[in-house]
Amino acid sequence: MIPYGRQYIDKSDIEAVVEVLQSDWLTTGPKVKEFEESVAEYVGVKSAVAVSSGTAALHSAMYAIGIGPGDEVLIPSMTFAATANCIVFQGGVPVFVDVEADTLLIDPVEVERKITDRTKAILAVDYAGQPCDYDRLQEIADRRNLAIVTDGCHSLGAEYNGRKVGGIADMTVFSFHPVKHITTGEGGMVTTDNPEYEKRLRIFRNHGMTSDFRQREERGTWYYEIVDLGYNYRITDFQCALGLSQLQKLPDFLKRRRNLSEQYEEAFSSVREINPLDVKHNVNHAYHLYVIRVDFESLGCERADIFQRLREKGIGVNVHYIPLHLHSFYQKRFGTGRGLCPVAEEAYEAIMSLPMYPGMNDEDSNEVVTVLLGILEESRCR
Ligand SMILES: *Cc1c(COP(=O)(O)O)cnc(C)c1O
Repeated sequence: MIPYGRQYIDKSDIEAVVEVLQSDWLTTGPKVKEFEESVAEYVGVKSAVAVSSGTAALHSAMYAIGIGPGDEVLIPSMTFAATANCIVFQGGVPVFVDVEADTLLIDPVEVERKITDRTKAILAVDYAGQPCDYDRLQEIADRRNLAIVTDGCHSLGAEYNGRKVGGIADMTVFSFHPVKHITTGEGGMVTTDNPEYEKRLRIFRNHGMTSDFRQREERGTWYYEIVDLGYNYRITDFQCALGLSQLQKLPDFLKRRRNLSEQYEEAFSSVREINPLDVKHNVNHAYHLYVIRVDFESLGCERADIFQRLREKGIGVNVHYIPLHLHSFYQKRFGTGRGLCPVAEEAYEAIMSLPMYPGMNDEDSNEVVTVLLGILEESRCR
C-alpha cells in the first residue's frame, strides 16, 4: 500500500532520541528550548512555544488571544476538526466561513460577511500547504480590530510574498504528527513575535503555573503561583530531539514534496477530468497534501467506487475534508447544516488527496498515476 502520507525516519533521528533517553532531562529540559529556538529561527520570529500536539497548540493560541464564552472565531469549513474544537474548548463559537473554489482557502469576502460584534479573531487554515490571502485578511483584521491566527499544520516551510509561514499572522500553529512535514510522534508549536502571547502560552501549557520544575530546580526554590486555569500540554525532550533532527531534513523534505507535485501536475495536464487545485503566483506551496478535483459526473461514475478501486490496488487515497459544518456535533451544538458553505460542499464531492510524502520514490508516484488513469479510462468506457 502506498499511503497518502507517512513519516521519514533515519538513523540520525533514532540516535538523537536515544541520546536524550540517557540524559538527565526527559521533559522540560534543554532539548525543548533548543527545538523552540530552532523553529523560531527557521520561520523568522522572536519566540516559539512547544506543546504536546497541534491541537494543544491551537487550544493554547485561543487562550493566549483571550477567547472566552460567546466569543466568535471565523474559520474555514474545509479543515480538520481541531480547528473548530480549540474554540469550543474555550467556550467560544466557531463561525464556519466558505472557501474559494479554486484553492479551498478561506474566502476574504465571506470573512467580511460573517463578522459580528462578537467576532474576536480569524483562524485561517493554509489548506494543503498553500498560504491564505494574508494581505486581504490583515486589511480586514486591522479595520475590524481582530486577531489573526494561522493554523499552519499543513504549511511548515511555505512562503507568502517571500515570507515564511510562522511569522505572518499574530500567532501560527504547527503540528508534528507523523503525516506532517516533520514529526515528533505527537507534538505541536506556536510561533509569535508578541511577548505577551508567549508568556500566556507558557503558563497555559504548564497547569497555569508561573514557573516550571526545571526553573525552580535551578533557582533552588519551591515557590510558584497558579495564576489561571491551565493544562499539562508539555512535550518531552526526546520528542524535541527528534524534532530537531527532523528540522535539519526539512529543506530536503520540502524539495521532494514540490518535486512530486510537479510530476503529478505534468501527468494530469492533459487529462480533462482531473483538475489539481490552483496555486497562487505569490506563494511557495509546502504540499502537505496533493488534492485533485475529479469530474465524476462527466466520467459517469461515483467517487466511492473509484476510491475503493484505488484502495484495492494499493493506492492510499484520502478525502480532506468533509466540511466541518456538516458533522452532527456542530449541527447539534451550533445549528449548522447544508447550504451554509455551498462552495465547500460542492468541492467536497469532487476532491481526493493523492499520496504525498518525502520517502515516496518515482516508482511510487508513477504507480499512483498509472493506476489512477487506468481506472478512469475503464470508467469512461462503461
Ligand atoms: C493535523 C492537523 C491539526 C491537529 O494536529 P494534531 O497534532 O494531530 O493535534 C489541526 N489542524 C489541521 C489543519 C491539521 O491538519
